[in-house]
Amino acid sequence: MATARLTACPLCGGAALRPLPAPRRTIDPRLAAGCGLARCAGCGLEFTTPRPSDAALAAFYQGRDYTAREPIDDAAAHVRAAAQLALVAAAGGRIAGARVLDVGCGGGQLLAAARARGATVSGVDPSPHAALAGAALGVEVAPSLAALAGRRFDGVVMSHALEHVPDLRATLAGLRAALADDGWLCLEVPNLASLRARLSVPALVARGADERHRAFPIHLYYFTPRTLARALADVGLAVRAQATSGLGLGALRPRRGAAADDDAPAPPTGGPAAPRAPRGLYAAAKAGFHRALLGENLMVVATARG
Ligand SMILES: [Zn+2]
Repeated sequence: MATARLTACPLCGGAALRPLPAPRRTIDPRLAAGCGLARCAGCGLEFTTPRPSDAALAAFYQGRDYTAREPIDDAAAHVRAAAQLALVAAAGGRIAGARVLDVGCGGGQLLAAARARGATVSGVDPSPHAALAGAALGVEVAPSLAALAGRRFDGVVMSHALEHVPDLRATLAGLRAALADDGWLCLEVPNLASLRARLSVPALVARGADERHRAFPIHLYYFTPRTLARALADVGLAVRAQATSGLGLGALRPRRGAAADDDAPAPPTGGPAAPRAPRGLYAAAKAGFHRALLGENLMVVATARG
């Protein structure tokens, strides 16, 4: 597969890039052939370079093997949407009566949840599956953010998509341009500062620990709370609330009874206690991990600076 090498950091533009060992586990060995990882010495962003060419990525997403954006009506997607809107509310963002846009709306779970809370909703997603899901909800789904140029929204959500976009800065600028002056932006990305990611050190990976937080090489950037805040600051937005969900540590603790609820989002930082937390020490440890933003998924809500 064709690859492209970045000569500058996609976040800060810095040219001091330190190569990192490429993950052993990949999404697709053919797509990952020739790809690598690097860390920017300037801003600390980790990113994929060389990365699959734009054409190779587009072909991969259109292929039958990639199903992440199909409108599977899974419980986790509903839980995730509810957690995102709870964080928006915790940050003081308006939902009832607001115009809300979900960029990468997939199965439409966020659209449905926001509408149930009184919002007028629109979606963006190039996938035909998403168009069908939108039609089933009676919601307009545009193929790209560019197709909505000139439209502004009181709230914009982008969940598990920013790490996939070939042009990071242009995408962030597009999200910012779609926001009303007093609008809020809610982003969710995999958390490179998670406990799970920190434990994926070479010694453990060699013993079988996976590196699924990498989703290498289709995750083009690996954000931490710090680098995500930097990316938002670059387009004039400041983080007002942040939270993490999912620990992904199921393999590291004793299994008893039903499957873990590792993927259930934690309440926003400073919010009420989790209503369905597992019992005992594990529950206490889990709550502490989320207070320290050590969960697998990082959610932030940002508004204009000032
Ligand atoms: Zn940088």
